[in-house]
Amino acid sequence: MDRVAPLELLDLDGTLSAEDRDMRAVVRKLVDDLVRPHVAGWYEQGRAPVRELAAEFGKLGLLGMHLSGYGCAGATATAYGLACLELEAGDSGVRSLVSVQGSLAMFAIHRYGSEEQKQRWLPPMAAGEAIGCFGLTEPDHGSDPAGMATRARRDGGDWVLTGGKMWITNAPVADVAVVWARTDEGVRGFAVPMDTPGVTAHEIKHKMSLRASSTGEIVLDDVRLPEAARLPGAEGLKAPLSCLTEARFGIVWGALGAARECLETAIDYACGREQFGRPIAGFQLTQAKLADMALELQKGYLLALHLGGLADAGRLRPEQVSVGKLNNVREAIAIARQCRTILGANGISAEYPVMRHANNLESVLTYEGTSEVHQLVVGQKLTGLSAFV
Ligand SMILES: Cc1cc2nc3c(=O)[nH]c(=O)nc-3n(C[C@H](O)[C@H](O)[C@H](O)COP(=O)(O)OP(=O)(O)OC[C@H]3O[C@@H](n4cnc5c(N)ncnc54)[C@H](O)[C@@H]3O)c2cc1C
Repeated sequence: MDRVAPLELLDLDGTLSAEDRDMRAVVRKLVDDLVRPHVAGWYEQGRAPVRELAAEFGKLGLLGMHLSGYGCAGATATAYGLACLELEAGDSGVRSLVSVQGSLAMFAIHRYGSEEQKQRWLPPMAAGEAIGCFGLTEPDHGSDPAGMATRARRDGGDWVLTGGKMWITNAPVADVAVVWARTDEGVRGFAVPMDTPGVTAHEIKHKMSLRASSTGEIVLDDVRLPEAARLPGAEGLKAPLSCLTEARFGIVWGALGAARECLETAIDYACGREQFGRPIAGFQLTQAKLADMALELQKGYLLALHLGGLADAGRLRPEQVSVGKLNNVREAIAIARQCRTILGANGISAEYPVMRHANNLESVLTYEGTSEVHQLVVGQKLTGLSAFV
């Protein structure tokens, strides 16, 4: 009997433009060629060839893909989302590389930087020749960045930065960090070249999730920067928060890629694996699991398409992105864990992508605002009451 891929159940591809479908096919092939054959090994070793991948992604215009000018592709938000989906079907760490580069570091410079900063950083970042990172989280300040301890004080015409950032994707391999610091005038952002004296980055080891990604700590020890390093358009915490909204949009789509990969793996496995003399896919309990997962995957995809449409119309609001991140990551991790059960003991093996995706999604659930924080954002919108303060 004919089989339909889980993301093709509702013929949603018909809603995409031919251009978007072509672009998606190119990214899928890139992931097939460059990521899938190697990613289990990277994950086991706890490192990924970030620079090599960035160079390849740069050639395809995937870095800062939804930005315009300065060597960026100027793609639609929906096209960017589809690319994130395909990349994360390979691995969440690979999608994180692209999200942090494009939606956090490049977006911050593109939106808030001076012309000189844009000219200096964006073209090499779009080409994957320069790697960027985004330092907001600190050891003692995660969900509540307003409490940040990193300071920037004026010293003559310069700034001097002191403090530290923690859990920063790409930091150990980065050429530039967008660092957020408290000043006497409020929170400000700085484009910090990583070779500035006083800046050091250390790889965070022993991660059990997102292992095919470089994550680090940044130490800022009396780092002297000229005024020209400050992002002139960024005033207050709303600036870094707007960057996070950009990156979360990619996660709304990316998480579905991880879930799709798990579900397709589980279906193939269940059709081939026999117990009690028949394929386990023929058992009603297995089919109930598969059907329920396919439903959630489709619903998440519909949500992503809707949010993509709003973004392309310039009408996407932050709390709507929270709805997408909260739902799609929560459902993706539930799908990954359920698929793991279908693979039985093989489900815990790196021979299959399922456990890797499930473990990765633990990070995705936490970064760019935890699920609880997004519940509070949506709750505030529903009630008019803030539970944050
Ligand atoms: C692999 C990885 C990569 C990352 N990359 C980056 C990066 O590139 N740049 C960057 O700046 N950060 C990055 N982060 C950090 C990430 O954004 C933070 O971990 C996240 O914001 C949560 O902060 P925290 O870990 O300090 O947890 P905490 O804020 O300490 O939260 C712990 C728990 O308390 C809950 N909680 C907190 N406040 C409330 C509340 N008011 N009500 C209810 N529950 C609450 C949280 O939801 C969570 O469950 C990364 C994290 C990981 C794991």
